[in-house]
Amino acid sequence: MLLAATRLTAAIPIQEQADQFLSLVNAGFQALYRVESEAQWVAATDVSPVHDASAETAGKARAAFNGNPAVIKEAQALLEHRGDLSPVTVLQLERVLLNAAEGPMTNPQLVADRIEAETKQASVLNSFVFKLNGQPITANEIDDQLRTNRNLAERRAVWEASKQSGPALKPGLIRLQQLRNGVAQELKHKDYFALQVAAYGMTTEEMVALQDRFMRDLRPLYLQLHTWAKYELAKRYGQPVPKRIPAHWLDNRWAQEWPGLVAAADLDDQFKGRTAEWIVQAAERFWSGLGFPKLPASFWEKSDLYPLKPGDPRKKNTHASCWHVDLNTDIRSLMSVEPNSEWFLTAHHELGHGYYFISYTRPEVPPLLRLGANPAFHEGMGELAALAAAQEPYLQATGVLPPDFKSDETAFLLNDALNPTVPLIFWASGTMTHWEADVYAHNLPPEQWNARWWQYVRDFQGVEPPAARGEEDCDAATKTHINDNPCYYYSYAIATVLKFQLHEFIARKILHQPVQHCNYAGNREAGNFLRNIMAKGATQDWRQVLHEATGEDLSTRAMMEYFKPLMAWLELQNQGRPVGWD
Ligand SMILES: [Zn+2]
Repeated sequence: MLLAATRLTAAIPIQEQADQFLSLVNAGFQALYRVESEAQWVAATDVSPVHDASAETAGKARAAFNGNPAVIKEAQALLEHRGDLSPVTVLQLERVLLNAAEGPMTNPQLVADRIEAETKQASVLNSFVFKLNGQPITANEIDDQLRTNRNLAERRAVWEASKQSGPALKPGLIRLQQLRNGVAQELKHKDYFALQVAAYGMTTEEMVALQDRFMRDLRPLYLQLHTWAKYELAKRYGQPVPKRIPAHWLDNRWAQEWPGLVAAADLDDQFKGRTAEWIVQAAERFWSGLGFPKLPASFWEKSDLYPLKPGDPRKKNTHASCWHVDLNTDIRSLMSVEPNSEWFLTAHHELGHGYYFISYTRPEVPPLLRLGANPAFHEGMGELAALAAAQEPYLQATGVLPPDFKSDETAFLLNDALNPTVPLIFWASGTMTHWEADVYAHNLPPEQWNARWWQYVRDFQGVEPPAARGEEDCDAATKTHINDNPCYYYSYAIATVLKFQLHEFIARKILHQPVQHCNYAGNREAGNFLRNIMAKGATQDWRQVLHEATGEDLSTRAMMEYFKPLMAWLELQNQGRPVGWD
C-alpha cells in the first residue's frame, strides 16, 4: 500500500512526514470529491435511477478512501506528536479523522449496512404518497393548502395528512439510530450527535448549553411574537385565543417559520417586468460591488439556474444549492429562479456560498480545509447576503424599489422576525436539537419518541397538535433532516445568530448606518471584512475567527439589538394580553 511509505520513521522529521502524508491525502480527497460531486450534479439536474446509482457508486469510492484504515492509523499516529506539528497540519489531520469517522473501513460491514439503510430511508421518504380523503396529495400541494386555505377543518385534515409518512419512516429511523451511533463509536466518539458537534470542537453538552442560551436570551422577544401571532390567527379563524398555537393554524408544517402574517411586507409586485436572468446578475453585482471578482465564465456555462421549460422531459431537484464541484474553480449553482422577491434573496444567498468557495480556494488553504470556519459560517454568510439584500436602501439602489418608496418599517421588521428568524431558533435550538440529542446521545427508547417530540414542541415552541398524537405516529420523521442530515440542525440557529453579528459590525462600524436600514452596495471595506473571514476557510478555530473579526464571541446581542424597535412595538400591541403559555 502506497501510504505505508509514510510510516513514521525516526530518520525523517515529523513535520516532513506529516507533509508527505497530507499531500497524498489532499490529492486523493480532492480527486474523489470531484468525481462524486460531478455524479451528484448530474443526479440532481437530471433525476433518474441510473444517475442516482452512479452518484451512489462515486460516493462509495470516496467513502472507501476517506475511511481507509491505513489513512486512519497514520493520522492517529501523527497526531500523537501534535506538539511538534504546525497548527494547520493538526487541523488537517483532525479533519482526516472526522471524515473517516463517517465511514470507517475498520468495520466495513457496519459502514455498508449504514449506507444501505440510508439509501432505503431516502427512497421511502422520496416515494411516500400522502393521501387526503383517499386521494394522493403532493408535499407542494400540502404547503399550498396550508398557505391559502382558511377553513380550519380542512387545514386540520391537510396537516394530519402531512404526518402520514412518520409511521412508514419509523422502523428505518430506529435502525439508523443504532447504525449511526455504531459508526461514530468505531472512532471513539460517544455517539453520532457527539461526532457531529466535534466539527465545532464542542461536546454534546456544550452544544446543547449554547442552544439553551440562545433560547434564554431570545425568549422575551419570542413570547411577544407568539402572543401577537396567536391573537392575529385567532382573529383570522374566528376562534377564542388559545394558550398555545394549534399547529394547523400556521402555514408551515413544523411551525419552524410563521409566514403569511404580514401582507404589507410583500414585495413581489416590485419584480414584475424583471427577468430571472436579471435576478442572478443583480446578485453577482452585489458581490462584485463589494470588491469580489466576477463569477468565472464556467459558472454561467455549467450552472442550472432557471426552471425547466414546459414539456422538458428532464426532472431536476428544485431545492436551491451552490456547489464547489472540484474544490477549485468549478463553482455551480442549482436554482429555479423566477422574478420574485424570494428568488432575489435566494440568489444573493447562494452566491454567498459561491464567493465563500472562491475566497478560500488558494494555495494557503489545503483542499481538506476548504470549508467554512465551522458548518454554520457558510450558511451564515449566505443568510447575511439575503439580509443585506432585503434592506430598503439597497432595494432602492438596485432599482427594485422606486426612490420615493415609503415602506412600513414595522411590517418589514415583523416579517423578518417571523419568517424565518425568531421561531426558527425555538424550533432548531429547542425541538430539533433536544430531541436528536435525546435519541442519539441518550438512547431515548423508540416507544417514547413521539411523546418527547411533542413535549418539546409544546415547551419550546408554544405550539400543540390539533389532537393527541400517539406512539404509532413518528412526527419527527416527517422532517427531512431527521432522516438524511441528522444531528445538524443547531447549525441553522448558529448561522442565524452569527448573521446578525456580522451584519451589525458592517452596518455600525463600516457603513455607519442603522442596522435595520442600510445599504452594502459598492462598499469595498465591507467586502474586505467578509473576505478576510472567508479566505481563511477552516484553517483557524472558528471562535478565533469570529473574535478577530468582530471583537466578540458568538452572542445573540446583535440579534436582540436588531429587533429592539420591534420589541417595543409588540409590547404595545400586546398590552393587557396574557403572554406565554405556562
Ligand atoms: Zn445555504
